Amino acid sequence: MLGDVETKAHGFNLSTLYRSFQYDPPVDFSLNDSERGLLELSRDFAQKEIAARAPVAWEEGRCPTDLLREMGELGLLGMLIPEQWGGIGMSTVGFVAAIEQIGQADQSVAAALQAHVTIGSMPLYLFGNDEQRERWLRPLAEGRVLGAFGLTEPGAGSDTRGIRTRAERHDGGWRINGQKTFISNAGTDMSFGVTVLARTPSDDDKPRFGSFVVEKDTPGFTMGPKMRGIGWRGLDTRELFFADVWVPDEHLVGDPNLGLGQFLAALEVGRISIAALSLSLTQAVLDLALAHAKERVQFGQSISKFQAVQFKLADIATELEAARWLTYRAAALRDAGEPFLKEASMAKLKASRLAASAASEAVQIHGGIGYMLDSAVARFYCDSKVLEIGEGTNEIQHMVIARALGC
Ligand SMILES: Cc1cc2nc3c(=O)[nH]c(=O)nc-3n(C[C@H](O)[C@H](O)[C@H](O)COP(=O)(O)OP(=O)(O)OC[C@H]3O[C@@H](n4cnc5c(N)ncnc54)[C@H](O)[C@@H]3O)c2cc1C
Repeated sequence: MLGDVETKAHGFNLSTLYRSFQYDPPVDFSLNDSERGLLELSRDFAQKEIAARAPVAWEEGRCPTDLLREMGELGLLGMLIPEQWGGIGMSTVGFVAAIEQIGQADQSVAAALQAHVTIGSMPLYLFGNDEQRERWLRPLAEGRVLGAFGLTEPGAGSDTRGIRTRAERHDGGWRINGQKTFISNAGTDMSFGVTVLARTPSDDDKPRFGSFVVEKDTPGFTMGPKMRGIGWRGLDTRELFFADVWVPDEHLVGDPNLGLGQFLAALEVGRISIAALSLSLTQAVLDLALAHAKERVQFGQSISKFQAVQFKLADIATELEAARWLTYRAAALRDAGEPFLKEASMAKLKASRLAASAASEAVQIHGGIGYMLDSAVARFYCDSKVLEIGEGTNEIQHMVIARALGC
């Protein structure tokens, strides 16, 4: 028995070593009735509506807010917000299950949805006061407007402390100057504005940051045209400009000095949702590649009979299972109120790397037809790269994990 083994050479007890790898508490990933109900609702809507309408928006480079509004009516835009504030109070596990379904139909719609539910709504839910939740969170959770999160700047991406946008204190409010870039969901006809991070005054050398709600018609707040990416073409991503934008004190969310920590807390759950998006993309390209491999005949037989093709498919399926366990585990830890920073980074790292490599292999299995933008697999291939970049690059995920290991 393992517990009785004493290694003479090294002098340690294996059972102690074994216990040190056990996780506590145990986590159950089986879906309860409401999580399963949400999964089925999401699958129905994804298959009937999103799969039919979103590819056109992708081609046209337009955010399909008609679909997002309908998803709002179904409660999907308030998945992680309690009913008290207009949401449906779903668990993180249920949220991951829903994103898995929606992302298989279209990645841009799923990307807009997850950005809204996590980073677009979380700063207000976690750190806003009740007045702010009533004023801004409720419409977000009820799906009447779309939420945006303004952290990244031209000079500060991974290095979040390097942001230069400033908020100066003036009578009864704050004056904001600066620029943000790559901000999703801020410029659609459904957008209400953005929760933006800015430097606040500090008496010492340490930088301080606060978060502020800036509504879209505020004087001095402007934005550039929708940016054109390799993928996620249906996602609205823009540069934002703040020239002497004045917001009253009620727009400050949480502590004027702790805004960076607030934003990073919102990003933690955002990483679980990028992992979920990655799972959905991998499942989609696996299904497409498998169907094509069975159908396509070369050298007198279906290409699925060639071992080289079989091994690609088997590898994707195996890695997908592993990535799925990591992602649901991170989600279940969050639901259990346990720390999940390291696990969210591990899930995002593993699942996004897999999505990018699986999409490439799936195109390979399709051959030339997979290279053509009219094919679904080509669109997923284009959509896959950003998963390794958004909400903290994979290098940053490595750093978070290494730090958690004590490096
Ligand atoms: C489609 C899209 C949507 C986005 N939506 C939003 C949004 O809604 N809100 C928002 O605030 N931001 C958003 N972003 C920004 C995104 O979070 C950043 O692009 C990302 O954090 C990386 O920052 P960067 O692009 O400035 O890259 P950089 O930080 O310049 O990184 C460039 C490279 O250097 C590497 N690197 C940097 N520092 C280190 C280090 N210390 N060690 C090792 N390697 C390092 C990076 O990993 C990367 O490979 C979006 C981006 C995209 C592409």
